[in-house]
Amino acid sequence: MATKINPAFSKELKKYGTVNMNACYNCGTCTAICSLSTNDESFPREMVRNSVLGLEDEIKSSLKPWECYYCGECTTNCPQEANPGELMMSLRRWLTAKYDWTGLSGLLYKSLPLTILAMAIVFVAVLFFADSVSYNLEQMLHFGHYFEIIAIGIMMVVIFLPNLLTMWYFTIVKTNTKVPFKYYFTALKDLFVNMFTQKRSKDCDEKNNFRWLEHLVLVLSYLSLLFTTVFLNWFATNNVFVIIFGYVVSLLIFMVTIHFVSDRVKKNKSLNKFSQPSDWFFVIWLLLMGITAFLVRLFIDIDLLESNKWMYIIHLTVLAQWAIIIVPFGKWTHFLYRSFGMYFAKLKSIKGTK
Ligand code: SF4
Ligand code: SF4
Repeated sequence: MATKINPAFSKELKKYGTVNMNACYNCGTCTAICSLSTNDESFPREMVRNSVLGLEDEIKSSLKPWECYYCGECTTNCPQEANPGELMMSLRRWLTAKYDWTGLSGLLYKSLPLTILAMAIVFVAVLFFADSVSYNLEQMLHFGHYFEIIAIGIMMVVIFLPNLLTMWYFTIVKTNTKVPFKYYFTALKDLFVNMFTQKRSKDCDEKNNFRWLEHLVLVLSYLSLLFTTVFLNWFATNNVFVIIFGYVVSLLIFMVTIHFVSDRVKKNKSLNKFSQPSDWFFVIWLLLMGITAFLVRLFIDIDLLESNKWMYIIHLTVLAQWAIIIVPFGKWTHFLYRSFGMYFAKLKSIKGTK
């Protein structure tokens, strides 16, 4: 079958954040320097080449963009300043849009005004809700708790499941990889290990284990806060251990994300040089989640929330924007697709698949 070329691909990819990729003269320095690139799975040079040539289908069926943890070494050493690290990041954004059946990921990635409009609509909806229950704190807290459970369930079934199936179709089915059924179970360990420990990012930036540690703390704190608020009902519990645990994890989220935000502001590393709106929304909303959750619980404990309901309305707005916009259609999805990317790559590497 003839290879399809999309001559407008580099223009399209620019909307997802590529910078100067056409300057690449194919020297291979980036691949040589990348500590995650192997003989079998070589990148990012090949991805830069495919992008410059507009080989859209090749890219769509590739898992390589998910294998990059963006240490930025390739960008630092590229003699042409073609920014291969940023290209890999842009491909992840583009792939996210391709997997998403709703088409909303692509629209939100490409349009900042649309993202702001979506955020504003959610804010107005929260205000309407608060007004509809006459700003009754008990009812707002009750709704907020169930909103999280319902939102997680809906996102899983309606958005993530079909999108992950699309990813599987592009990368496994369309590449004619025959994976015996039992391997889907035996490789599950890799899925969860990568998901919870992000251990490969340690190899990505060997000189900087602190970055890996920060990511690890963030992932574990975020998942713990989710568990504490959804399953242990943090805002309603009297259990002192749960209360303290919630304080600790929300504070950790705040501390790590404030460091991420300051790095992005300073642009002191190559990976922070070209932040897209989706990167900003991700770190800032994560930071707001941590701090507003912390303050709501603090206001409850010092008996101030009843007279300061605005605090909970702010938290509910941040939570709703996070759950409805950023988690299903923004950068949060990279966490999920990367974990499944590693899982599918493992399936492809198992002897017996072809
Ligand atoms: S992106 Fe830069 S380092 Fe990589 S092949 Fe192209 S010119 Fe060479
Ligand atoms: S950013 Fe790091 S992991 Fe990603 S391709 Fe470049 S060198 Fe490899």
